[in-house]
Amino acid sequence: MDTPSLEPGLYIVATPIGNLGDLTRRAVEVLSACAVIACEDTRVTGKLLNHIGIKRPMRRYDDHASDEAREKLLAEMCEKPVALVSDAGTPLISDPGYKLVRTARDRGIPVTSLPGPSALVTALTLAGLPTDRFMFAGFLPSKDKARGDALAGLAAVPVTLVFYETGPRLVDSLEAMARIMPGREVAVARELTKLHEECRTGTAEELAAHYTAHPPRGEIVLLAGPPPAPGAPDEADVDTELRAALAEMPPSQAAGKVAKALGLDRKTLYARAMELK
Ligand code: SAM
Repeated sequence: MDTPSLEPGLYIVATPIGNLGDLTRRAVEVLSACAVIACEDTRVTGKLLNHIGIKRPMRRYDDHASDEAREKLLAEMCEKPVALVSDAGTPLISDPGYKLVRTARDRGIPVTSLPGPSALVTALTLAGLPTDRFMFAGFLPSKDKARGDALAGLAAVPVTLVFYETGPRLVDSLEAMARIMPGREVAVARELTKLHEECRTGTAEELAAHYTAHPPRGEIVLLAGPPPAPGAPDEADVDTELRAALAEMPPSQAAGKVAKALGLDRKTLYARAMELK
């Protein structure tokens, strides 16, 4: 493959999350042509470079790197093309890079992002849960109280929720979901793009029982569909509300008040209010 010359700047390069065949042609071109590769772990990235048969200078970088290390990389990208990769998937998605991109942009350094694999999108497209609106919420906290608080804070958000998860914590998270956000369709997407890829769906209770019996190995994305639509209130509840309203106001107002409160049809409630009166 011809290696095009690259302009100076920062190149964000997504890499495979398991299957090396998912490395894009453009990723190979940019990694081959850049002057320096900033990476989380030089051994992991070294293996990837070995796989594509190239050698480039590597610099260890994460968002906890010293200001001095970051400044050094920023100075380099003013002069030459610098690539940023993470151990797997898309940099900045629960991975380092945010501070680097932000500072580069603040200083007018050109930033280019090469799309490619991410466990988040792979899981979302696989799970069969609604994809029209979703929220990526990263890793849940590991401590019970903080995990419960995080889930409670998300329980009312009417979209599919996506979390990164680890095997040892999966059952705790599923049990917390069953308690705090009941009634949802849940999916566990495991070892995506790898030999033992699995995507299992069910309720949080069912999945907690399954993974208690079969402790999960490997890397995991946990997804929860949107909260179930509230069911129509039952007739007895509607009558109770109507009677209470009728004790204080005429039928037409009572019907209007209860229709608004319960999201029901005003005319139907008026007819019922006249029967109850
Ligand atoms: N930046 C990466 C991306 O774009 O997917 C994610 C990095 S984050 C540190 C690592 C987490 O991503 C894992 O703990 C797991 O939750 C998820 N993950 C990565 N690869 C995966 C895979 N092949 N299958 C399932 N989940 C994966």
